[in-house]
Amino acid sequence: MAIHVGEYRISLDAKEADANLNFVSHAHSDHTGGVRKNNEILCSDITRDLVQTRTRFELKTVEIPKGTKLLDSGHMLGSKQLYVDSGESSSIVYTGDYQLQRSPAAEKIEIRRADTLIIDSTYPFPNIVFDEKEEVITAMQHYIKSRMNTGSVLFGAYSMGKAQELIKICNDIGVAPIVDGNIARINDIYSSHGMKLDFATRELGDGVIDDDFREPVWIVSMHKVDRVRGLVASMNRRIFTAVATGFAMTQRFNTDVQFALSDHADFKQAIDYIEQCCPKRIYTRGQGCDIFAKNLKSEGYDACPLRKPSSIANLLVNYI
Ligand SMILES: [Zn+2]
Repeated sequence: MAIHVGEYRISLDAKEADANLNFVSHAHSDHTGGVRKNNEILCSDITRDLVQTRTRFELKTVEIPKGTKLLDSGHMLGSKQLYVDSGESSSIVYTGDYQLQRSPAAEKIEIRRADTLIIDSTYPFPNIVFDEKEEVITAMQHYIKSRMNTGSVLFGAYSMGKAQELIKICNDIGVAPIVDGNIARINDIYSSHGMKLDFATRELGDGVIDDDFREPVWIVSMHKVDRVRGLVASMNRRIFTAVATGFAMTQRFNTDVQFALSDHADFKQAIDYIEQCCPKRIYTRGQGCDIFAKNLKSEGYDACPLRKPSSIANLLVNYI
């Protein structure tokens, strides 16, 4: 069980034995553990379509239960927060993955006041502070423009969410990158939900090595980076490899360059969110929830970690 709303017991991005409805904040696989074949799920239409494509499950979305709302979370296209205000007692919001800085490939986050906040803990440390997204994007665009005249730029990216953000960043400087088939299939779903992306597709199966691979900008799934690197190099063309992820703040990647372009909130953004949400109590969720709660407490907030999804049950039974 997670949150009681009328006839529903709504689980949050995870499998719960006694839940009868699963809220799926967005389509990344670490948030779809509760999705089963022929499931009815609570999510945006694009999340349903993306999860359906990845899992090949037939899925339906339920009508949003009375007293609940899905609020944009700014993390990727269609990503949502769950907001519940039954009108009888008090309100609660669960963020899922979220970010406050606007991505060119996602809706702007909506923040509402709530009595209880269940907040994601991806970046729990105050010392990790992302630069302004616009600045990072400008630096990336400058890099792409300066390198594509002397060689090919190759980004490795998650095929869902990050790849589409990178395509938008390229499109904004008039570049239509080459993508692999996996990314192209996700792009088609983005496009059917109103986000147009300009790109060309190269299927990168075996037996294509006689083709020309001198295209200036590539965005491919992580596991295809080595293959494309080899194919471009075989054309005697210089290749510049890159990644764009928040983890560039804490990890060194095996690429020529790495950009700290995150689709998550850092600690500073989390505080900004909390200040706007004004919760009476905060529960931190996900990896890093203990340290995040501790760091929030030292800032004067009433915060406590939710170590397992099921522990929400103990905290919220009859709360709503
Ligand atoms: Zn995510």
